Amino acid sequence: MSSDRVRITEVGPRDGLQNEKRVLPTAQKLKFIEALAAAGLQDIELGSLVRPDKVPQMADSETIAAKWGRKSKLRRAWVLVPNSKGLDRAIATRVRDIAVFTAVSETFNRKNIGLSVSESLAELAHVVHRARKNGMRVRGYVSTAYFCPFEGPIKPRQALRILEKILELGVEEVSVGDTIGAATPRDIDRLLTPAFALLGGPTRFAGHFHDTRGTALANTLRALELGMRSFDASAGGLGGCPFAPGAAGNLATEDLLYLLDGMGMKTGVDLARVCRASLALRKAMSGQGAMAPIRSRYLASTIGAGRSRTP
Ligand code: MG
Repeated sequence: MSSDRVRITEVGPRDGLQNEKRVLPTAQKLKFIEALAAAGLQDIELGSLVRPDKVPQMADSETIAAKWGRKSKLRRAWVLVPNSKGLDRAIATRVRDIAVFTAVSETFNRKNIGLSVSESLAELAHVVHRARKNGMRVRGYVSTAYFCPFEGPIKPRQALRILEKILELGVEEVSVGDTIGAATPRDIDRLLTPAFALLGGPTRFAGHFHDTRGTALANTLRALELGMRSFDASAGGLGGCPFAPGAAGNLATEDLLYLLDGMGMKTGVDLARVCRASLALRKAMSGQGAMAPIRSRYLASTIGAGRSRTP
């Protein structure tokens, strides 16, 4: 695969904001999404139909989805749906694009959603079947594909089995998650090489990398070399890592764009405009006296350059 076109799925408004302590007002979220779309991001994850009492950051997802999830200019306006109840809400809101998720690790699945992997796959089968009958497009997430915060390294064979099961349900793409940002390029090889060979080629997969240990771009580069052309990222590196407080979280959209632009890959996304969207959001997220952190290295470097007084 030699295409130089890369698709970026912007997960900041969901995966990012869900993992930030501060609950952002709906109007600010809508402004953020507007700015991301204006920067050229065509695939945006808007929110999550989880229980609002459990995840207050996502309590306004229906409002956001109603605004952006029907016939917006976006190519895909994803809303995360955890189970059948979430799907009922998605149908009621007339959402077009939903994302579903499971994990490879048994322990992670039990702690995250209280189901075993096979119970979770059975629930997903119902959700995806009903979603497709309702004309929705479905994206699958598989977390802990390389490492689990509780079980440690995951065997590629084990991850392949789950990727295959999710693809069999009829999702249009499966996003393969290095949930705790522990993988290195060798792990990417060991999973993605057989996945692409056995499960229909690279176009069925997206890379979801976390930068907890600084390996997200190295992993992205390896995945690109293997033919992957779809990546998830979060504007400003929003989100942190729930398993490593204070550490970087999702790969920052700015950092991914800087790499792809430099390599001559085409994304249709304007790096400077994404930076402006992140900085405006940072202002909105910052409390009295305390500025929200910037987890994008690229963004941090541009701010540093602007303020530099070094002779
Ligand atoms: Mg993530």
